[in-house]
Amino acid sequence: MGKQYDRMLTIQQEVSDINGALALMGWDQETYMPAKGASTRGRQLATLSGIAHERFTSTEMGSAIEEAGSEELTVDQQVNQRELAWTYSRSKRLPTALVKDLAETSSIAIQAWRDARENSDFPAFVPHVKKLLALQTQVAEAIGYAEEPYDALLEDYEPGTSTREIAETFEALRTPLVALVDRIRESGVSPRTDFLERSYPIEDQRKFGVMVTERMGFDYEAGRLDISAHPFCTHTGVHDVRMTTRYTPTLPTQSLFGIIHEAGHGLYEQGQDPSFEGLPRAQAVSLGIHESQSRMWENLVGRSRPFWNHFFPEIVKTFPEQLSDVSEEEFYAAINNVTPSLIRVEADEVTYNLHILLRFEIERGLFTGTFAVEDLPAVWNEKMQDYLGIAPDDNREGVLQDIHWSYGSFGYFPTYSLGNLYASQFFAKACADIPDLTDKISSGNLLPLREWLRTHIHDLGMTYRASDLVVQVTGEPLNADYFVSYLNEKFGALYGL
Ligand code: MG
Repeated sequence: MGKQYDRMLTIQQEVSDINGALALMGWDQETYMPAKGASTRGRQLATLSGIAHERFTSTEMGSAIEEAGSEELTVDQQVNQRELAWTYSRSKRLPTALVKDLAETSSIAIQAWRDARENSDFPAFVPHVKKLLALQTQVAEAIGYAEEPYDALLEDYEPGTSTREIAETFEALRTPLVALVDRIRESGVSPRTDFLERSYPIEDQRKFGVMVTERMGFDYEAGRLDISAHPFCTHTGVHDVRMTTRYTPTLPTQSLFGIIHEAGHGLYEQGQDPSFEGLPRAQAVSLGIHESQSRMWENLVGRSRPFWNHFFPEIVKTFPEQLSDVSEEEFYAAINNVTPSLIRVEADEVTYNLHILLRFEIERGLFTGTFAVEDLPAVWNEKMQDYLGIAPDDNREGVLQDIHWSYGSFGYFPTYSLGNLYASQFFAKACADIPDLTDKISSGNLLPLREWLRTHIHDLGMTYRASDLVVQVTGEPLNADYFVSYLNEKFGALYGL
């Protein structure tokens, strides 16, 4: 092992340990921290982040990374050196004053967004979006980009991906999705969902969710499930993965699919190679690939017909009274009910991506100057009408519904849809590699899929960037057809199309 590589590793380990502490404090903030602890916690988080950032961007780290690049390294070591060099060079290009300005502007914008949403008052939010847009344009200019400023922002979440690539992929999605939504609407089929509104004891919901995720292979000796207002999954290391969910006394499937989703994220983290803990070689490739894991388990497995062949009798055992007059088919149809709706996070599998397409088109248009910030409510409502056939009455349920822009996060939304697309393509390959995979799922045996994901994706960490990983795993670049045919087949059967 090279001397400079070692030096790089030592610093990165310190940074990663601080990041682990930050993750734990962040998790605690959302789960158990008493309300009055908030301001102290905020300061502690800022202090530790500052130390981690300083350590990582130190000239000592810079020279260790650079010099390690000319040492003789194994393939795994090259992955660590390549990715740390990439992150280092991006953070070095950002002037400290700009980073600070962004942090301050977004913390004010978040509060402004909360008020604006509360009052459905978009004009009140406009100056904040304008300022964030200007700052993020400066970020993009500082980092550099191939074709358009949005490229640079996108790469924060999906390294190695370009706006043009995503636009082409999404373009292939729009027409078939809009057509499928239309056909479903015209089918006149409307599944019964009344039984989901009955009362389901929360402790039983939790037990059922834990049972399912244990069957998925989530290791509860290396992870936990707790409650938070907004579900998430975080980790301090490969053997300490924290998931959260939220429960309501009705809609037991909301918590169940939430838990399955977060466990998909959790399995990705638990499946990393522990010998590279804290290093890119044991880190997720991108947000899109991370989301492919959660959405595969949630939708392609958890909302599938084979899955409920085994788990329907189990859920009836847990909730015998609530489900006494419900057939397996009725249950399956209810959890796959497609209805165009205004709110992204409540959208079903078919309409969800149209919510994302709209956001991507708006974000891109903001940076190319196609849309002015003032025009967003009109653009939003027009696109909603075009894609989903409905439009909100007020901005609260429209352009003001998501928190992302108040953080100055532009380029995040596309990763949700990329996750769906990657998931279908990976799953098709898993089915080809394991011919009786759906039979196994149908008998409640979920471990073969976890093993396949572990070998082909989890255990590789950042060895490949997302676009190379897809080729490596499936033999071809990202192709939206897998997702479109999956939806057409599944919902064609459900809606008699
Ligand atoms: Mg997720």
